[in-house]
Amino acid sequence: MAMIKSLIVNATLVLALALPAMAWAADQPTVSPVPAFSVNANSATDQSASDDSPQAIRAAKHQLYIPNKTPVPLEGYRWPTTRLKIYLATRNRPLVAAFRDAVKAWNSTSVVHLTWTRHRGQADIIAEAGDLSNGQPSPAVGYVTTQLGSTRSEYNPDTHALIRAHSTLDAPHLEYTSRIFRSEVAQHELGHALGLAHAPQGSYSVMIPNNVRTGITKADRQTIRLLYGTSN
Ligand SMILES: [Zn+2]
Repeated sequence: MAMIKSLIVNATLVLALALPAMAWAADQPTVSPVPAFSVNANSATDQSASDDSPQAIRAAKHQLYIPNKTPVPLEGYRWPTTRLKIYLATRNRPLVAAFRDAVKAWNSTSVVHLTWTRHRGQADIIAEAGDLSNGQPSPAVGYVTTQLGSTRSEYNPDTHALIRAHSTLDAPHLEYTSRIFRSEVAQHELGHALGLAHAPQGSYSVMIPNNVRTGITKADRQTIRLLYGTSN
């Protein structure tokens, strides 16, 4: 029985759908949304848990090195291994496709190797669908803010080791976007699940907080290499 002190961090990607007030009131689905992201400040909550899962025991063994200069900022934790198991906790077809694309994209860095598991209990990362809309309508300007994705990461603050991560994609609000865009949002969330933080807005990275418009870039690949200590 290992008493693991862990922190849970929420990193959220928020989409502001810019809809004209009239159209919003009329609830017209044909209005083409203009994506403009904003991001919630990362929040960390202390949590002490008795956790003797394989992940927690593995995480407790070593203090992990976290580089301090990387092209894309880091959250300050990482997995103790590059071989990770991911569990698909949704059957929503567009989101399944997005997560599968995103896993392939991160695996193509040849730094991390994510494989799908059918056993939730063995998973390092849980990929799930959710309705993240705690919508914050601002009727005065006719905008409504909706979260597109969110990643909750549990890690050991003493060893910097990730224990488990949950990446959630918002099913209702991603439904009307393109497959490529959904894949990019999934890549962004799995980037958080691997330990990447937000890149400065305007930089060329899948980890920009607002309005993701690329998949994994050179800067993202360099960062994941530095974090997981491989030189290829
Ligand atoms: Zn994010």
